[in-house]
Amino acid sequence: MTTRALPVLEMARPAHRESTAAPVAAPELAEFATDDLAMPRFHVWTLGCQMNHSDSEEMAGALLAAGCAEAPDVESADLIVINSCAIREAAEQKVIGRMGHLANLRRANPALRVVLTGCSVRTDNAPGLKKRYPEVDLFLRPDEEPELTARLGLSGPTAPGRMTATVRRDSAMAAWLPIIYGCDKTCTYCIVPFSRGPERSRPFDDVLDEARSLASAGYQEVTLLGQNVNSYGHDLPAEARFGHIRRARDLGRNIELDGRPDIAELLMAIRDIPRIRFVTSHPWDLSERLIRAMAESPSVCEHLHLPVQAGDDAVLRRMGRQYTVEQYLELVDRLREAVPGITLTTDVIVGFCGETEAQFERTLELLRQVRFETVFAAAFSVRPGTPAARLDDDVPKHEKKRRLQALLDLQEGIGLDANLRWVGRTTEVLVDQQRPASSHGDGGPRLAGRNRNNKLVHFDGPAELIGRLVNVRVDHAGPYALSGTLNG
Ligand code: SAM
Ligand code: SF4
Repeated sequence: MTTRALPVLEMARPAHRESTAAPVAAPELAEFATDDLAMPRFHVWTLGCQMNHSDSEEMAGALLAAGCAEAPDVESADLIVINSCAIREAAEQKVIGRMGHLANLRRANPALRVVLTGCSVRTDNAPGLKKRYPEVDLFLRPDEEPELTARLGLSGPTAPGRMTATVRRDSAMAAWLPIIYGCDKTCTYCIVPFSRGPERSRPFDDVLDEARSLASAGYQEVTLLGQNVNSYGHDLPAEARFGHIRRARDLGRNIELDGRPDIAELLMAIRDIPRIRFVTSHPWDLSERLIRAMAESPSVCEHLHLPVQAGDDAVLRRMGRQYTVEQYLELVDRLREAVPGITLTTDVIVGFCGETEAQFERTLELLRQVRFETVFAAAFSVRPGTPAARLDDDVPKHEKKRRLQALLDLQEGIGLDANLRWVGRTTEVLVDQQRPASSHGDGGPRLAGRNRNNKLVHFDGPAELIGRLVNVRVDHAGPYALSGTLNG
């Protein structure tokens, strides 16, 4: 057994088990084996948004292709890849709080190596990373993730990698499909443009090819992903085949977009997938073409996540969101007119710099007016290096907490009212989970999945239904989920 000297990690032979290098079936072929190395068993720990989950699936695919095996948890891994979230300080603390545990694991397994990637790794904070994350051996910015296996010495001409990497997807029925990386917006509170860089759209045909292969693999649902999917295509070259696309930004400054593909064109071109979703949409770029595509494509689900962040114009201006409450409400009207029954969900930040009680009340008023079905709310958390870090974070912590609770209390009632309207209706559910057997009914397995409006629906039924689209009659509604009976 030789020990591979890795350029960065100098990964030693795992102390606690035998090599995971693929065995050579016939002894006479031994001399052709690429290498006799202990390949690390990896575990990817993912925090944060859907983009991180999608990136983690790509990294896991690359590590599997390099010949590594996947470990079920960090405790049994030789290589831990932490895909971090920096959107709020609490998310970063989750990782920092695990450093002691990682140190213990390393004592038990000196071969353990730890990679940190995701939004906590940026150029601007590089000098302080080792101090903040002492147990990390290799730091990779999100845009460096494709280099993971190469930086570990696990791919390349002399490496033991055996296969072409394919994404290792968590689900066999619903897939993430990244269409645009990075973010060009300048929301003053947000770290994402600093960690993920400027927008880069994937070529139109690449996205369609991947959608086609997902369709032929039997995927029922595809979610197009990006920090702002609505600006997809603006950085791609103009082409004659997109000559019919003439669009201007509907809000804010006007930039040249004619002749370039957009998300509406993608939504209309993706075929043979029963359900298409897309996330996240910035209201500034929600074009009339996109609203029309949502209305016309039978696959696009009747749900839109449209982050509003605040219900007061002065706060929105300080946040750099580029729209007013009135413009946002106009969009809501247009969406509800074009897609009857559409479910709207949103993100809100409470206690942003300078937010007065009256301004916060206007956010509550907006929630009462729009009646979003789900609101993802959080207290403002200062992110060093962002423009808002130069503003006065003057809403005290206890006040942010109170506002957050007041908002959640209000939203619970609104969410329950919206869900009660489903009782008695039959709805199509993509079954994706099995829960412990229910204490009532016939004791069959409890299944769950989402309907097209993204409502979570629980019901009893056989496990063979997982991965299928079924009809469920809704019998009960709570503020966060529905439950019902499988329709024979
Ligand atoms: N690109 C999306 C958008 O435009 O809304 C989502 C970005 S971010 C990953 C998800 C949510 O985190 C944001 O919508 C915002 O509500 C919240 N968020 C971002 N920065 C924050 C901060 N500094 N403090 C609290 N919440 C924050
Ligand atoms: Fe952050 Fe704004 Fe970009 Fe969303 S659109 S990732 S909130 S900067």
